[in-house]
Amino acid sequence: MKYVILLSSVLCAFVCPGQNLKSGGKLSPDQAIMDIRHYTISLTVDPDQKSIDGYTEIDLILSVPTDRLVFDLTNVLKVNKVWVNGKEAKQEHAENKLFITSGSAFNSGRIKVRIAYGGQPTIATRPPWTGGFQWDKDSNGNPWIAITCQGEGAKIYFPCKDHPSDEPNEGADMIITVPKGLTVAGPGLLRKVSTKKNQSTFHWKTNYTIANYCILFNVGKYKVAKRTYTTIDGNKVPMEYYALEENFDKAGKILDLFEQSCLILEKYFGEYPWVKERIGASETPHLGMEHQTNIAYGNKYRFEKIGGKDFDWLLHHEFGHEWWANKVTNRDWGHMWIQEGICTYGDRLAIRELAGEEQYMNSMRETARLTKNKIPVVRGDEVDSDSAYQVDIYGKGAFFMHTLRYVMGDAIFFPTLKKLATDPQYTYNNTVVTDDVEKLFSNAYGKSLKPLFHLFLYTPDKLEVSVKQTYDDKYLVRLLNIDMPLPMDIATDSGLQRLTLDTTATLITSKTPIQVDPKVFYLKKVIME
Ligand SMILES: [Zn+2]
Repeated sequence: MKYVILLSSVLCAFVCPGQNLKSGGKLSPDQAIMDIRHYTISLTVDPDQKSIDGYTEIDLILSVPTDRLVFDLTNVLKVNKVWVNGKEAKQEHAENKLFITSGSAFNSGRIKVRIAYGGQPTIATRPPWTGGFQWDKDSNGNPWIAITCQGEGAKIYFPCKDHPSDEPNEGADMIITVPKGLTVAGPGLLRKVSTKKNQSTFHWKTNYTIANYCILFNVGKYKVAKRTYTTIDGNKVPMEYYALEENFDKAGKILDLFEQSCLILEKYFGEYPWVKERIGASETPHLGMEHQTNIAYGNKYRFEKIGGKDFDWLLHHEFGHEWWANKVTNRDWGHMWIQEGICTYGDRLAIRELAGEEQYMNSMRETARLTKNKIPVVRGDEVDSDSAYQVDIYGKGAFFMHTLRYVMGDAIFFPTLKKLATDPQYTYNNTVVTDDVEKLFSNAYGKSLKPLFHLFLYTPDKLEVSVKQTYDDKYLVRLLNIDMPLPMDIATDSGLQRLTLDTTATLITSKTPIQVDPKVFYLKKVIME
């Protein structure tokens, strides 16, 4: 199906950032001693000059005293002044790092750093894949501004500790000033709008922990469509779509599809994660991104039919990231398949819900066909955003969930997947790596699934199944490259049988040639001996 191909190839991706910036990787000792608590970003945006000017305030806890504080900030922007706990401090800004010192050491404990800066941020060359600012215009000539920075990191426009392992646990405030008549959409809830002369200031605030690349805003001549959504647990959450005024007639449809997707995602992954704030999306000039409580939507209302119902694959996928990326977050980009792969699996589950099991199976077979299997999905810990990204983190990650579902059975698999999305030890302030996922699923299964995780996530190999015909109607079947017994469908003359195979041969009798795993639950290579 067309959109399966689209989903497998084009979402939330980061490659070759414009400034050759990347985020994550090995955490420096200077930043390992910091625990970021909160960001306040206060900027005036000038669409004519394509510039920003203002300050960022960072609240953090130092675990030990230190002579210097080190933040990430692109050198494209100019730092004017820095204060630590209200006292002006010295700064040096080089190679996209901001070094802050004072006459004496900074004590351990909580500190507040304020950095005044501004300039013309880098323009995105191919958003959302290469990030930066997009200074676009709607068809009436009004400014339409978006930011993307998943790969490059938020340092492209505010000073921060740019690593996926450290989100501001107390949230973020965004105080954004734009020319009067424009609207700013940001994360969390809109607290206040004030207008002075020809400028309006929008104060957005989230109290939730949030990834750096989601702390951003969109600007446009927006009109807001609103309704209230009742979650699976009975909580009422505002649902808002910031549509360009010229597209407002389509905004109600987006809210309908938002509701449809939310019902499906809640069924499998538990209640919508940000019930104290809102379900939100903004229309953007780029395709889309999973910005927390303010999903970027740029699919231009190109709906398609799944099981006879309208569906927007982009909206569903980015919304799925509210669970997989925003609520369940990989500690390091090396484990990004947890975010992209399971989110992509959520796209396939939407097919299951809207069109049925057979269509879901078809979509998984198509997903299997599109896997590359050239480099491992997980390439180690401490992997930066550039090195971690490859297409198999989407489809192969999703297909691995499909394999687990078959191995474990629905009665164990689905509750375990929901546990990963709901248990406090894996969500919100706690980040995860592949080992956490493996242990959770192994515990639920009652036997170690480590060999399965290893084969499909840490190697590019497929499961090798040897078939040896010994007589006209006799076959010996065994697994070659995995040290654990696995269930396997074998089609014989008496129909489909679910057998347990391992590295010792299993004898199968069939007058017709046998078929291994005909419905395709494994990425596999059948070797006829
Ligand atoms: Zn994605």
